[in-house]
Amino acid sequence: MGRLIIISNRLPFSIDHEGDQLSLRQSSGGLVSAIKSYIESESSKNRAFTDKLWVGVADFPQNEWSVVSEQLTSVDFQINPLFLNKILYKDYYNGFSNSVLWPLFHYFPSLVDYQAHYYDAYVKVNRAFADKLIPLIQPDDTIWIHDYQLMLLPEMIRAEKPEATIGFFLHIPFPSYELFRTLPAEWKTGLLRGILGSDLVGFHTHDYAQHFLQSVKMILGVDSYFHTIQYQDRMIKADLFPISIDYKKFNKACDDPETKQYYNEIKNNFEGKKIIFSVDRLDYTKGLMDRLSAFDYFLDQYPDWREKVVFILNIVPSRDDIQAYTERKQQIEQKIGTINGKVSTITWQPIIYRYTHLPFNELAALYKAADVALITPLRDGMNLVAKEYVASCSARKGVLILSELAGAANELNEALLVNPTDVIEVSNAINRALTMPVDEQQQRMILMQQRLSDYDVIKWVSDFLDQLSNVKQEQQKQQVKHLDDRTSSQIHLHYQIAKTRCLLLDYDGTLVPYAKQPKDARPNEDLRTLLTDLSNDPRNLVVIISGREAETLENWLGDLPLMLVAEHGASFKPKGEQWQQTVSIPDQWKNEIRPIMQLFVTHCVGSFIEEKTNTLAWHYRNTHPDLGFTRSRELINNLTQLLQNTMLQVVDGNKVVEVRMSGFDKGIMALKIVNDLQPDFVLCMGDDTTDEDMFKALGERAYSIKVSNGPTAAQYTVFSQQKVLQLLKRLMLPIVNKQYAGT
Ligand code: UDP
Repeated sequence: MGRLIIISNRLPFSIDHEGDQLSLRQSSGGLVSAIKSYIESESSKNRAFTDKLWVGVADFPQNEWSVVSEQLTSVDFQINPLFLNKILYKDYYNGFSNSVLWPLFHYFPSLVDYQAHYYDAYVKVNRAFADKLIPLIQPDDTIWIHDYQLMLLPEMIRAEKPEATIGFFLHIPFPSYELFRTLPAEWKTGLLRGILGSDLVGFHTHDYAQHFLQSVKMILGVDSYFHTIQYQDRMIKADLFPISIDYKKFNKACDDPETKQYYNEIKNNFEGKKIIFSVDRLDYTKGLMDRLSAFDYFLDQYPDWREKVVFILNIVPSRDDIQAYTERKQQIEQKIGTINGKVSTITWQPIIYRYTHLPFNELAALYKAADVALITPLRDGMNLVAKEYVASCSARKGVLILSELAGAANELNEALLVNPTDVIEVSNAINRALTMPVDEQQQRMILMQQRLSDYDVIKWVSDFLDQLSNVKQEQQKQQVKHLDDRTSSQIHLHYQIAKTRCLLLDYDGTLVPYAKQPKDARPNEDLRTLLTDLSNDPRNLVVIISGREAETLENWLGDLPLMLVAEHGASFKPKGEQWQQTVSIPDQWKNEIRPIMQLFVTHCVGSFIEEKTNTLAWHYRNTHPDLGFTRSRELINNLTQLLQNTMLQVVDGNKVVEVRMSGFDKGIMALKIVNDLQPDFVLCMGDDTTDEDMFKALGERAYSIKVSNGPTAAQYTVFSQQKVLQLLKRLMLPIVNKQYAGT
């Protein structure tokens, strides 16, 4: 097992200054504690990483690093700091990360500061990370990239290290497509492509994962199936891994004498009063102004609680070099002053406000002492404070009031869930919490605690790493079918020694890429030359076997010495002969089907009907992907019912639904050609569901290759249509290399 390489904007320690003395202090932040707890846990024993390396931006000068790097034994990781120019860092961190991505991803589009040079800095810093990492990466390493500051990095690493194992975790929400799409085109495609350099992409909730997949579909045109995406030549998984906390640490915190002392002090200080507590970083996402309004409303609405309740409001300093944050602080402090001024008495002040970092013991004591935790962010990727509060209620007393817009609400649904902007609802919830019978408090707590202790932070890390290695294994299984150079060589050799050969080639998506309109996918001269060269070899029969109608094939390829098969086998033209019908089909049925398809054209903008001699086709390639897909299912459903017990069949193709006569398909036709010709060598290539009939019918008789990576009856897959042309060109080259001998 190789190394675990963690990459995040911040390093897992800070440098303390005491006079001239510098010392290293490991951070207590969520990610650091998570990785550390995991490494120390039993779960990590099955996955003994040879080393743990952390790469992040240095927030200290190089000369200090030379001094403290000798003390690295006090940190659990090897450290590789990145030293960046201060202005560049500011544009990347305060600029693009915290003034573009942070507000947009938290649904504050009006706070986004769209400045082109912010994105440039973001690209440069991600590139600097890549340049630092690429020379360090070894084949067995597991690379885990964290958060919104580094969304371009996975792709940059992948470009240089195609085989690398890369996981990416987003610690903030991924917004709905409607919001994400508001970014300039270069930024949004860059960010999505960047993330898709990973093998596994993790989110806190199902919704965030779905939003991401939707954006990938709408912006990059790449579909997903059950959380997996086939992108370029890789299968990528996007799934949910709700980050958790060190449950035991919080649950047992009050066993510590110092914490107990804090706890006793708080309880004595507010004897006879109920305590409401909240702690948040100073951030507009945390809903502090709305929370204060709700508390103000509560004191008016339920005046009996005056002098019987205190609200301890702790704000942790954060990003105080961004204007949106400093302004907010002033507003909050003003509002606290107004509320306290309005209702305080000589012996009672409703809001105890502090603007400070809390040491762990004090925080844990406050959690335990609080009768109610009031956690009401307007948006939050997860919200660990809510989870820490639940874990800290070791006597199972206490009530959590939680915003339904925090990721944590998905797991903590026994909390009193509120809309954070609805002051009446929040005020009522406060009253409900303060009057909730103890046995109800306990029932709710037990369920939430059970969930958190089952999926604690160690489980979070191991779950992510397990899934990452599963994805790698699944990718390898896919590779088994992938047409590699060795197999191409075998096919080449077999082709060269065969006396008679048959090449069965689908047209759209196999020989040419899909065009917006079917009429635009004409063959270019290169393709026509390639097909002519192949056909001019007297040992070859080249068959174009297509869903296209005869007229189109005749116009585009009729002058070449090929065999043409139209409409999946409804008609065909043997080499040098005339077109023949396989079956004679009266086409009155079209009059029944056409109006139904027309209705779907009306209800799905961008879709259209293609009328062929023996087939009616409804195309939805150019529609809204979701709507097109949904409508196609409806159409198939309608048609299947209508066509029961008739001679017609519905074919579910690649972004097309077709109705045609049953009794023939590409498989029947392909088998007939091969049986008549009895060639030494058969190659069959296609990309569509209708080509599966050929792959199945021919079985071992042919080398069968599918362009795509979904489940297929073909023996091999290639990822792009270009590879088909490369293989066809290669077949005609003489074998010069002795390496094939014996294969
Ligand atoms: N926290 C802290 N110092 C404090 C108060 C709180 O480090 O003075 C911690 C708290 O224990 C929690 C984290 O900060 O683990 C806040 O995480 P959360 O997900 O609630 O919000 P974020 O700040 O990540 O938006």
